Amino acid sequence: MIPPKNILEHIRHIQNRAYTCVDLTIYYLERIKEHNQQLNAFVQVYADSALQQARELDDHIKQNKPLKRLHGVVIGIKDLIAYQKHPLTAASKILEGHYAPFTATALQKLIDEGAIIIGSQNCDEFGMGNSNRNSIYGPVKNFLDQTKTSGGSSGGSAVAVSAQLCMVSLGTDTGGSVRQPADFTGIYGFKPSYGRVSRYGLVAYASSFDQIGVLANDLYDIALVLEIMAGRDPHDDTSSPLVVDSYSKELTLENTHTKKYKIAYFDSIFNYKYLESGIKKNVLETIDTLRTLGHTVEAVPFDYLDYIVPIYYILTTAEASSNLARYDGIRFGYRATANTLKEQYTKTRTEGFGWEVKKRLMLGKFVLSSQYLDNYYLRSLKIRQLLLTATTDIFAQYDAIIMPTVPMHAWDIEGHKKNIEQDYLSDIFTVYANLVGIPAMSIPLYRHKENNMPFGLQIMTASFNESLLVQFANYILKTVQKQ
Ligand code: GLN
Repeated sequence: MIPPKNILEHIRHIQNRAYTCVDLTIYYLERIKEHNQQLNAFVQVYADSALQQARELDDHIKQNKPLKRLHGVVIGIKDLIAYQKHPLTAASKILEGHYAPFTATALQKLIDEGAIIIGSQNCDEFGMGNSNRNSIYGPVKNFLDQTKTSGGSSGGSAVAVSAQLCMVSLGTDTGGSVRQPADFTGIYGFKPSYGRVSRYGLVAYASSFDQIGVLANDLYDIALVLEIMAGRDPHDDTSSPLVVDSYSKELTLENTHTKKYKIAYFDSIFNYKYLESGIKKNVLETIDTLRTLGHTVEAVPFDYLDYIVPIYYILTTAEASSNLARYDGIRFGYRATANTLKEQYTKTRTEGFGWEVKKRLMLGKFVLSSQYLDNYYLRSLKIRQLLLTATTDIFAQYDAIIMPTVPMHAWDIEGHKKNIEQDYLSDIFTVYANLVGIPAMSIPLYRHKENNMPFGLQIMTASFNESLLVQFANYILKTVQKQ
């Protein structure tokens, strides 16, 4: 069987009875069997429940009922997204043996439209990391070169899509965890505006940053899945009541290719010390091409580049230290044996959390402590506000901002941890969108000259302007990429 190119083609195949939902599910289960031991992308495979879903969807067809919008689309979910009665561990020992008591709203909406959930995917513990090495299940290998990292924290979700172990994955993005692994594995990764998609049923890392995002091999799949899972949810007060457009329809609009875009880029980015020359060269070439095509592409001053990673780590660790306080060994997962309650809390958390999570929880407590609150936490909030104002000003004049997704290419799994500063700073181009809540997408446009590994261009639009983002991405794919 040749897997469908995208959901559009899949629905056509289902309509023409080219295969059944059961056939397709078995196809992906076999691929998982063949590749997962090496890649380590899935941590749980839901063969029984997936096949059960597939049979029901096939019965639906036999009864000549109309097809659902995702009829039989095989989806994997990051191990941070709740799927009722299925394991949910956040790749952490502390959630060992925990089962989700309900299904995340975003996921439920996909299931209601016919999506089949094939399994849960490896990630950094609680989403904290960028190489999938902070996982109780071990690192994920990049399908395109198994000596290279998948990226993270949604490493399993990205590799599963890139290796065709499922059609689409749901990941989560707090500071780049959908876009960065998408960049490293040659696929699309989309982070919606903050509030566009419900966070109900998403294991919290930093609540004012977290969003569920989509990873796919095709822009159409991103657009369709996003429009289905977006929208107001009474279970999440930060979800937006704004109308959700049909993003997938944007891809067929006639006028897409005649519009002249106004695009901004940050002047400071191309002098960034860790930006690899090959990435710089390719993105600058794209800027030139866009100009040749008659668009306005301008450098805008951006004085915050040195601040965004530090304030991201101050604010997210502060929020994490509060969110992760609930893992006390009483209500969820792992419980250490101890003689007193206090000892039980301490031992459970000491044994249950991995090193990176503990480091961040301590940092979070530190920046919130009365002595340091003003200097770190509150000051970071002020800078976040300045960033927000600067961003609003930019979008008053421009349609989109472009930049690389990641300053370096997928590094080796072994021996990477040498330069810790460089490691944290590799998030520099992705955390910005989460700090200001705008939608952002990595599109797989480029290849590194020296090793042929893929990398992406990141594009962003104003908050809740996902339609324009999809439209602009489509334009770039159809026009710029062809040059
Ligand atoms: N690498 C970033 C971090 O470790 C982003 C993680 C994420 O988006 N979940 O915080």
